[in-house]
This record gives sequence, C-alpha cells and structure tokens, in this order.
Amino acid sequence: MYRADLHIHTSLSPCASFEMTPRAIVRAALERGLGIIAICDHNTADAAGLVEKTAAGRLYVMPGMEITTAEEVHVTALFPDRNSALTAGSKVKNSLCVRKKTGVLNDVYASSATTMSLAECVKTIKAHGGIAVAAHADRPSFSVFSQLGFIPEDAGFDAIEITAASSGPRGLFVTGLPIVASSDSHCLWDVGTIFTVFELKKPVWEEVFLALKSGGKRRFWVA
Ligand SMILES: [Zn+2]
Ligand SMILES: [Zn+2]
Repeated sequence: MYRADLHIHTSLSPCASFEMTPRAIVRAALERGLGIIAICDHNTADAAGLVEKTAAGRLYVMPGMEITTAEEVHVTALFPDRNSALTAGSKVKNSLCVRKKTGVLNDVYASSATTMSLAECVKTIKAHGGIAVAAHADRPSFSVFSQLGFIPEDAGFDAIEITAASSGPRGLFVTGLPIVASSDSHCLWDVGTIFTVFELKKPVWEEVFLALKSGGKRRFWVA
C-alpha cells in the first residue's frame, strides 16, 4: 500500500512558498510516509525532474502539471515520464494568454489562463499519455464546478480530486468518476495532510493508471 499525494507545487509556482524546494518537499514527503508524489506546478512541468533527481528512488515522483484552461478551470495532469510532461508543458506555456498577447512570460502570470478550452486541454494531456484530473473539485474557485457548474459529459476526465476530507465526496460521487484526495500543497506544512492510498504491485505511473481504470483490480481509497 502506498500513500500518494498527487498535487504538490514547488516554488516555481508564483503562488507557492519559497520553502517549496525539491529537497524540502522530498524530506516532508518521506517524513509523512508518502510513497508517491506528483509535482503539479501551474502551467509548467519544469521542476518535476529536479524533484525526481532529489528523491533518488526513495519515493516515486510523478511528473505533472496544473493547467488553467480558457474557462479558468484547473486541470491536474499526471504524466508517465518526464519527456511527455515537458513536451506537453511547452505546448501549455506557449498557449498562455499573457504570452500570446505580449510575447513575454512574466512569472507572476504563469498560473493565468491558457487559450486551451477544457476539451482541448484534456485532449492535449491524453495525447501525451497523461491522466486528466478535475483539480480541487470541492473548492469554490477555479474548479470545474465553480467555473462551469457541472462536468460536461465529453470532458474526458479520468478522476476527480478533492482537497479536504471534511468537504468529502458527497455529491461528487454521482459523476461516477474515481475520486482521489490530494493536498494541493503550496507550503511544506500541507504536504501529505490528505492523500490517496493505492494498493499497487509497485509505485509507478502505470499501476496508478490501472488503479483508476481497472474498477477494483488495483484498489485505492481516500484517506
Ligand atoms: Zn488550482
Ligand atoms: Zn494546485
């Protein structure tokens, strides 16, 4: 059984604390008994490789990204390897509205909207072999529910993410999509405060994918 926190920001995200360095994140994750983490900075996958290198096999670091769609829906993308994440990441960065308008990318706006619609965003994630998760669906801002009021049937999400146990799945269960719990950590204190437990043969992306898709062959639950 592996504890997974599949949504952690590094200090590369403009809204995250400067303390979110690769070394500090890995240490916090190990201290809190996590076996799998995903690095999901806003609209970039550039820091995941460094965290993976720092972890040096002590825990599985999944390269990810939190993409802001044109509707300002946050979508968490989880990729099978660093190259897929980086290739998808460069597409996302090039589609940032602020860069398209001004030609430059100011870090302050790195979490702002891209020109990708929700459908285009999920399609891009899948084209690079990734898993698409509706980020912090239990929150009143930048979630698919806060922005659209519902999940479009053809959205193509693989899972829904909640970020607080108390706000629990409740109504989210009606979507029929698997639910994962992640911290959406922007500071060290939050790392691993909520997590998903996966029953896997080994802690790798393929096994997590199977757990989300296999309908019970690999079990997982929100903790
Ligand atoms: Zn978000
Ligand atoms: Zn986030």
